[in-house]
Amino acid sequence: MYQPFNEFQIELRELVRNFTRKEITTEVAHEWDEKNQHPKALVTKMRKELGINGLCIPEEYGGMGCGSVEQCIITEEMSRGCLGITLCFGYTGLGMLPILKGASKEQATKWLEPVISGDHGISFCLSEPGAGSDAPGMKTTATKKGDVYIVNGTKAWVTGGGDADAYTVFAYTDKNRGNRGVSCFYVPRETPGITLGKKEDKFGIRASDTRQIIFEDVEVPKANLIGRENMGFVYALLTLNTSRPYIAAMGAGVMQAALDHSAKYAREREQFGQTIASFQAIQHMLADMSISLETAREITYRAARMSDAGDPNLAKFAAIAKAYSGEAAVKCAMDAVQIFGGYGYTKEYPVEKLVRDAKILCIFEGTTQIQKNEIATYAIKESASSKN
Ligand SMILES: Cc1cc2nc3c(=O)[nH]c(=O)nc-3n(C[C@H](O)[C@H](O)[C@H](O)COP(=O)(O)OP(=O)(O)OC[C@H]3O[C@@H](n4cnc5c(N)ncnc54)[C@H](O)[C@@H]3O)c2cc1C
Repeated sequence: MYQPFNEFQIELRELVRNFTRKEITTEVAHEWDEKNQHPKALVTKMRKELGINGLCIPEEYGGMGCGSVEQCIITEEMSRGCLGITLCFGYTGLGMLPILKGASKEQATKWLEPVISGDHGISFCLSEPGAGSDAPGMKTTATKKGDVYIVNGTKAWVTGGGDADAYTVFAYTDKNRGNRGVSCFYVPRETPGITLGKKEDKFGIRASDTRQIIFEDVEVPKANLIGRENMGFVYALLTLNTSRPYIAAMGAGVMQAALDHSAKYAREREQFGQTIASFQAIQHMLADMSISLETAREITYRAARMSDAGDPNLAKFAAIAKAYSGEAAVKCAMDAVQIFGGYGYTKEYPVEKLVRDAKILCIFEGTTQIQKNEIATYAIKESASSKN
């Protein structure tokens, strides 16, 4: 039988699948969506009981030394339960990536130890109110003054912002050099001068705490400069290339949930004296969902394997995986609502939440349009260098 995963990966999938089935039920997902709150106790349980906080952290820093494939496996499984709660647990997976990309061994060991023990979360602070797709349009600055940098600016849309214990913050250290003048800093939350903005009242992933983080004359020691000065934008791009397959895995998890709910409902709901599963129109929607899900899985795990192998074409495939899986997840979730009919349009049933949650996959970590820009750049470059 076709089996894309090794024994360890299958065990890992079972561990997270079983935890999700027990702890992130439809009722729990609905409760935190309604409350519009970060489920602190549940996240603590995930951090302390699952034992996977250090999954993708190299062994030399005290982690488990796994890679993107394993990260995608756990992300897909959790997302079947609730995408919002997945992000409450998983925001550190993004926030710590600049450390993995740029920090010295000494820095990484120190900052990642509390992540591995499950005591710390780290949020990723790149976007700003006026700089989303155009990240180099950021205004935040870090001005060197003796042994410290003084950071000023406002970061927007910070996932996990209200829960995090530290932030990886991108700021200009040399505005004249454009994106080659951006540096990245590790900034503990208790540093004086940091204020939390109010939690955004979002369409979906409502459990996930998203907010602005405001930096006013925040003194960051030189020792907290991640890697080298003016290399921050490189670390940001490397981070996003690594994390985009994780977003694609979230899409696969949402699609699996949409298919699970829809197929079960179609087998149970009767109209015209027969189950709606007997109508070909419904069967075709289920078939389309299956096609999208399996296609998304293939491209997601391909990108993850390329990431683990250090493949130079990762950026193209990470963008394809994210663009495809995000858009397909929205379509699948919409089809699930259609299969549920009027009931699907209410909060009594789980599928309207899937639509609201899935939409973020087309927006954060680079919108679908930005992924397509990247993919098109490859297509044009490849055409120019081909002999045809
Ligand atoms: C819930 C949520 C969580 C987030 N979490 C984080 C986080 O943890 N850390 C972080 O740093 N950021 C985070 N973000 C920010 C996210 O990455 C940005 O929202 C995203 O990059 C889009 O930026 P924008 O919202 O400013 O939209 P804009 O950049 O203003 O885009 C608006 C529209 O214009 C299109 N567009 C823009 N430029 C182009 C172009 N060149 N070509 C074609 N179309 C274009 C876009 O695709 C979009 O449709 C989060 C956002 C949300 C909503």
